[in-house]
Amino acid sequence: MQLSDPVTLILGVGQTYTSRLKRLGITTVAHLLDHFPARYLDYSKITPIKSLLPQQEVCLKAQVVSFSNIHTRRRLTIQKAQIKDASGQLELTWFNQPFLKNALQEGRLLFFTGKTDRQGVLNSPDVDTLKSIQIHSHRLVPIYPQTYGVSSKWLRHKIHLTLQTSPIPEILPPGSFPRLIDLKSAYHQIHFPDSTQAQQLAEKRLAYNDLLAIHLKSILTKLDWQSHSAQPLTINPQLHQRLTKTLGFTLTSDQQSATKHIFTDLQQKTPMNRLLQGDVGSGKTVVAAAAILQVVKQKNQAILMAPTQVLANQHFKTLSDLLQPFNLKPRLVTSSTKTKKMDPQTDSTNLLIGTHALLHRQELSKDQLALLIVDEQHRFGVLQRSHFLQDKKTLPHVLTMTATPIPRTIALSLYGHLDISNIFKMPQGRKKIKTWVVPETKRQSAYRWIKDQLKTHHTQAFIVCPLIDDSEADTLKNVKAATTEYQRLSETIFPDLKLALLHGRMKESEKNQVLTDFTKQKYQILVTTPVIEVGLDIKNASIMIIEGAQRFGLAQLHQLRGRVGRGSRQSYCLLFDSSQDKSSISRLQLLETNSQGLNLARLDLKIRGAGEVFGTAQSGHLDTRFDLFWDIKLSRLARSTANTLAKKDPSKAQKLLALLSPQLAKYTPAN
Ligand code: ADP
Ligand code: MG
Repeated sequence: MQLSDPVTLILGVGQTYTSRLKRLGITTVAHLLDHFPARYLDYSKITPIKSLLPQQEVCLKAQVVSFSNIHTRRRLTIQKAQIKDASGQLELTWFNQPFLKNALQEGRLLFFTGKTDRQGVLNSPDVDTLKSIQIHSHRLVPIYPQTYGVSSKWLRHKIHLTLQTSPIPEILPPGSFPRLIDLKSAYHQIHFPDSTQAQQLAEKRLAYNDLLAIHLKSILTKLDWQSHSAQPLTINPQLHQRLTKTLGFTLTSDQQSATKHIFTDLQQKTPMNRLLQGDVGSGKTVVAAAAILQVVKQKNQAILMAPTQVLANQHFKTLSDLLQPFNLKPRLVTSSTKTKKMDPQTDSTNLLIGTHALLHRQELSKDQLALLIVDEQHRFGVLQRSHFLQDKKTLPHVLTMTATPIPRTIALSLYGHLDISNIFKMPQGRKKIKTWVVPETKRQSAYRWIKDQLKTHHTQAFIVCPLIDDSEADTLKNVKAATTEYQRLSETIFPDLKLALLHGRMKESEKNQVLTDFTKQKYQILVTTPVIEVGLDIKNASIMIIEGAQRFGLAQLHQLRGRVGRGSRQSYCLLFDSSQDKSSISRLQLLETNSQGLNLARLDLKIRGAGEVFGTAQSGHLDTRFDLFWDIKLSRLARSTANTLAKKDPSKAQKLLALLSPQLAKYTPAN
């Protein structure tokens, strides 16, 4: 049988099962073999009858002494058997399995597998006859993530059969999987491992395949990017110095080195593709501004894209201030501004600021664009790089910025196609945001405390309402929750304070108005959906309440609380956990003691698993079935192999990528 053959060719797979398998996404032999066990039952050791203990997975090897089929009044049947081994004798009971009569013949030696109950009784065990190869007993037995009426037992049988009859050719060239087992052994051992160790080696090899696919893809993307040319720019150091003098603070060493990296990139003939990573409030905007200044001062075009209009407005204000001493004025492009073609020769402004809708606007002159900066890139999902690549040889230099901290292990796999600059150190003088998980019993006193703070210190507060649907979308449900909370707080809790409501379903102009008014301190409390998460910089706000905090990831909560603590005042973050679940509370308490995004991301990773944290939400389609996928050593090995393969023969590498993992082939790197 060939891997590409339909499952119908497998012995005993009829119409019923073909359609059931189809619902599991299995239509070919290869799909079936790619359906990996979720776990294994350890039936490798035989337990003597007299050593049966409560609540254990056991495998007995015993002889049938007697068997009886008892009919009860309600047309039910009970099967009873006496079995014995060298250690003793045992009575077993089943219900409504009259066919057991065929297997349980007197004197016959059989395997009995199952889990003992609290009393140590083995109820209705599975029965397996002795064969030359056992697949259901006396070994590590695979349990499949089965559904739709396809049992593990059935799958085990068919997969075993298929493994015996299908050749599994090695798809990697010799030497490209050092110290790892070959593909055929990996498939055999992942389904029917000889030992736990053998299973782990199989998993390692298969995870390596996934990693190799990711790295090949990112390296090929990088090579493709580098095969394009860009406009090399000159850097004027005096200009940069003048900028730093007008700032009112000195750049941190990380900001300086990030700027240096970017300046170096901009002078190249190949387009920059760099990611600037830095925790919330670490000061990425000035770094971007430094690059922008160099570009626009030389009458080249730059654009800065933000994920939301609100943030675009904020960037517009910040950059207007920063660039004002240089007689440069950015232009804000919103859905309501009129389209006007930009002419770098005559226009005073070569800097456009807006949302990603900018990419489709006429103002954007693709041929003139020298620098594209994308803020909070993960919000965009996959940037339409193709937009720039369309029959174009020349690309703009691209800088993406993110506050989502990504541990190195992950960054290598997720962002392998980008060059990365990090801002680790925060600007001096920042105070830690005091964070508490507040029990429900203290809610009223928390409200009193806030009222007191707002009145005596003339500070402001955010109250973030829980996520009811997922975070990205400001769904109707989230909006409703925020609206209800806004009403409750205004009427019963803070009737003497001024409150405002902000959510993603409001018109852009309304949102901007609310935020402008909040910045001008016309309101003391802003009740909001999690839209507030990204990039917002309001210095006077120093208190944040997050409701239903258990619904957020740690890194996400960290970003949310990053909306406060931006000025010199002591800031506070109060977390409410409506689940009242102990483990959930202790997870949230990690925020009390950790103030670094990267640490929190690592902890999040440990608690929720990489798939959850960096899965679909972050990367589009970063799917893997193996924990080892996140292993740094294995990832490095795959990276270096991918490098060698891609550089030696890119088109061969491309073909290999298609073969490697059909599931992962759909993975598209962010940007
Ligand atoms: P983020 O990296 O989250 O985008 P911002 O660029 O918004 O952070 O910067 C946060 C705040 O810190 C801004 O008000 C900015 O002016 C200020 N800032 C940036 N760099 C420094 C620095 N080196 N020293 C002091 N303040 C700084
Ligand atoms: Mg920012």
